[in-house]
Amino acid sequence: MTFVITGGCCNDAACVSVCPVNCIHPTPDEPDFATAEMLYVDPATCIDCGACVDVCPVDAISSDFDLAPVDAPFLDLNATWYTGPGRATYTAAPFRLEPLSTARPGPLKVAIVGTGPTAGYVGEMLLSLRGIEVELTVIDKLLTPGGLVRFGVAPDHQDTKAAGDEIAKVMRRRGVTTCLGVEVGKDVTAAELGASHHAVVVATGASEGRRLGLPGEDLPGSVSAADLVGWYNAHPDQKDLAVGLQGERAVVIGNGNVALDVARVLAADRTVLERTDIADHALHALASSSLREITVVARRGAKPAAFTAGELLRLLQVPGVIVSTRSDELPTQLTGDPVIDHKIAALRSVADRPAEEGKRRIELRFGLVPQAIVGEETVRAVRFVSGEELVADLVVTAVGYRSRPVAGLPFDEERAIVPNEGGRVLEVPGFYVAGWIKRGPSGGIGANRWCARETVAALLADYDAGLLADPTVPSGLQGIDFAAWTAIDQHERSAGRAAGRPRIKLASRAAQLDVIAPAANTKHRPA
Ligand code: NAP
Repeated sequence: MTFVITGGCCNDAACVSVCPVNCIHPTPDEPDFATAEMLYVDPATCIDCGACVDVCPVDAISSDFDLAPVDAPFLDLNATWYTGPGRATYTAAPFRLEPLSTARPGPLKVAIVGTGPTAGYVGEMLLSLRGIEVELTVIDKLLTPGGLVRFGVAPDHQDTKAAGDEIAKVMRRRGVTTCLGVEVGKDVTAAELGASHHAVVVATGASEGRRLGLPGEDLPGSVSAADLVGWYNAHPDQKDLAVGLQGERAVVIGNGNVALDVARVLAADRTVLERTDIADHALHALASSSLREITVVARRGAKPAAFTAGELLRLLQVPGVIVSTRSDELPTQLTGDPVIDHKIAALRSVADRPAEEGKRRIELRFGLVPQAIVGEETVRAVRFVSGEELVADLVVTAVGYRSRPVAGLPFDEERAIVPNEGGRVLEVPGFYVAGWIKRGPSGGIGANRWCARETVAALLADYDAGLLADPTVPSGLQGIDFAAWTAIDQHERSAGRAAGRPRIKLASRAAQLDVIAPAANTKHRPA
């Protein structure tokens, strides 16, 4: 018997840290951890103790005899991963981490900008330090914390949301001041934050869609995946996005996991979506959508497909949706890389599937380099360099994310990151970055735990070395505090309970402010 990691794996490696026989790889100190799509249990060395199951934040580990039918392919994927080069030689010595520490008693005052998963990991690591008093100020420009967990993760992936909810635990802790509705550069400057804290950690992620730079990209009917995902996740800035769902055909450009998320949500049955926390406006619009055919287009072939095997396997199991590929676009030879070969086998298993009456279809196409989005008043098609045109009533560009600059900090426009060395912002002492704004938009949520750890270790080393100036002024920041957020949270959850959903999100700032108790701290109410 063995345990099996399934498609929801978040890569946070909590399972690795508790495995007594080191049977889960890659471990955070192994070279392929940074690029691994997920983690895998070696069936040859698993002793079936179940320690990994207890700590997995997303319930992505099952015993082989207990696998849900949708997860059955992961039994083989876990095992075959170990047939890859260099993977037969792992030591059985358990992976153990040196705890983060500092020699000073504090108090150490740190501001964390952002409330997504990475901010949560940073806060949790600082609050877990032994022998030092830590005071945190947690800041977000929105009134609702959660970042990517609230606004990025697809609503039909509720299990994934559990991976990044550390921030909720952090905000509850003693010594933590929550300031929501506070924007750096508008309500407070970076310099003011620096003067009132020993250190500032910026973890604002990447919230903007990359642009293709093609003709027609700004036509009505063409939207970026970043905006569409914000729209269906009730982001206040995207709640009024015009998403044309009256036509029959959508083309999604790019084939990363975000492209698959978008295609799945566009194709999903109302009965699936109405059990999730999808924005009400999106639920209603999608319930009356006329879309029938969603084509996900990659510029390269199937071998370098950007989606992960886990997400592909999960896509193939979506009830009521036909997923298909074209056999003449798939490689005929296997590559020897177990993960790629798994993807190719899965793509072949649905090759040339015809449409079925009454069912939506997602077609995964390969080798089509986009040249222009075509249309006069609204999008009509996507034209590719090969000359082929795909008719489209809706075009979604899912070609990656970009971070936004943070006022007062340097910004590398090309890489869309704050230039840094191991998390230390270059030339701005006392400022640190973690997550996507530090290294670019890649990897599952849990990968940010290790990115955050590197940053926190750098911060502590600088603190110990006396390189962080003591705060010279009190913070004085006032935003929407934790009690006020709790009022919004409880309101959303209780509305959800009544409708059999996890929560019904309030999509506008005005609606959020309406449910905040008058006693809550609202001095810095955003307009
Ligand atoms: P991504 O994985 O980097 O995929 C970007 C896609 O855009 C690729 O297919 C890429 O093609 C394509 N692309 C880029 N420039 C293009 C151009 N000029 N013309 C045509 N296509 C172009 O990005 P993502 O999908 O936004 O995901 C970001 C990260 O979040 C990824 O690490 C992803 O795995 C992760 N994520 C994970 C989950 C999950 O675990 N469930 C869900 C969502 C996102 P090429 O490959 O040819 O460059």
